[in-house]
Amino acid sequence: MTLFSKKIIETYQSKYPVLKEVMELHPVTWINPKLTSVNAFNATDLTMVNIHEAEKLWNRFEPFFRKEFPETKATNGIIESPLKKIVAMKARIEDKLSSEISGNLYLKCDNELSIAGSIKARGGFYEVLHYAESLAIKAGLLTKDDNYEVFTSKAFKRFFQQHSIGVGSTGNLGLSIGIMSAKLGFKVNVYMSSDAKHWKKNLLREKGANVHEFAGDFSEAIAVGRKQTIADPKGYFVDDESSNHLFLGYSTAALRLKEQLKENEIQVDSEHPLFVYLPCGVGGAPGGITFGLKQVFGDNVHCFFVEPVHSPAVLIGLVTGEMERVSVQDFGIDNKTAADGLAVGRPSSFASSISEQLVSGIYTIEDERLFQLLNLLADTEKILVEPSATAGLLGPVMVQQSNYLTDKVINNENVTHIAWSTGGGLVPEQEWADYYKQGSLLLMEK
Ligand SMILES: *Cc1c(COP(=O)(O)O)cnc(C)c1O
Repeated sequence: MTLFSKKIIETYQSKYPVLKEVMELHPVTWINPKLTSVNAFNATDLTMVNIHEAEKLWNRFEPFFRKEFPETKATNGIIESPLKKIVAMKARIEDKLSSEISGNLYLKCDNELSIAGSIKARGGFYEVLHYAESLAIKAGLLTKDDNYEVFTSKAFKRFFQQHSIGVGSTGNLGLSIGIMSAKLGFKVNVYMSSDAKHWKKNLLREKGANVHEFAGDFSEAIAVGRKQTIADPKGYFVDDESSNHLFLGYSTAALRLKEQLKENEIQVDSEHPLFVYLPCGVGGAPGGITFGLKQVFGDNVHCFFVEPVHSPAVLIGLVTGEMERVSVQDFGIDNKTAADGLAVGRPSSFASSISEQLVSGIYTIEDERLFQLLNLLADTEKILVEPSATAGLLGPVMVQQSNYLTDKVINNENVTHIAWSTGGGLVPEQEWADYYKQGSLLLMEK
């Protein structure tokens, strides 16, 4: 992880002028020149069939969730979050940024997803459940027609105790993999950097996961974690940097959102486009959801990712076309941000190769803004989220100020905007109060 030479950087900058702004840590909106119509999309063999199969897996596990996690009884064992229209917040953003937003603004509240409190419930749970199911079927303990309440039995837990799962994580992914794996009976090891939040480490230990801390760079934690996990013949490593299971778990959100839009009588067609703004770390969650939404709504949905100015990993990967072969550190960017889950220096190879054709663009955001938005969202809507989760709220203004709408000849009068709120459900009260206070102070300054 060394800084590129001045010459290499100059070559990149002259080829891709936006990189200069990015390296100076200025917020930018980059429009993806490789955006491909859904009809011509050819980056993967995955199709709608795979998304429906993934959804069926979630359905098979519903009895398990109802029994093992009583908090999911109200939703009948389905892990899903509400879609909320945030009129007051929209007005406040318009006021603060002196910029009118046309169309309606909604918040997709993944901060309320049960058990994990973040978007990682989608990908992380899915991958663990998928693995557990395949092990049980292979061992002759299960068929897909069985009642999956059997996963709560002592016999199943004893079976899974012989197997181990490992994951490298700075936070939310570790929580979702750790909680679900431990519940099923797996031995689970979470490899974290030592600067990961104390409450996350404590919570994981409380739930029965082993937490390993690493003083050095986070990539070292992942490397060691992978090595130690696969050294065990019955070990399975969840690879955030290239997992198609995580990706599919995220993609099913699109089917659920389609139903929610219908319930709210929100039309999506060429006259009523849907704009979705997704906070982005390695790119798996936003990539999987974008893939799903494009399968469902075709070219009438426009998906934008958002990254912290200090961690524009997917942006740099896509702008240069180098994907996971370059890191933000190569370009002299420090990857230091308060946005847990978005502090990522290098993008997922698997997700990037798909997003390359499907994402409309990426904008970057300063940490100060995240805290301000967190504060405003709490005041206007009484919705409490973590800093990362607010990043999508600037989307409507950032895109409106770019040339995307004119270039694509989009009439934005009837737009539905959805900012994806990605986490915060498990943040302890005191921690959250500190975030809120930081937001207040920053709002007073500006
Ligand atoms: C993980 C995470 C994201 C982004 O997901 P990636 O798959 O890393 O891109 C966004 N917000 C929060 C709160 C997260 O934990």
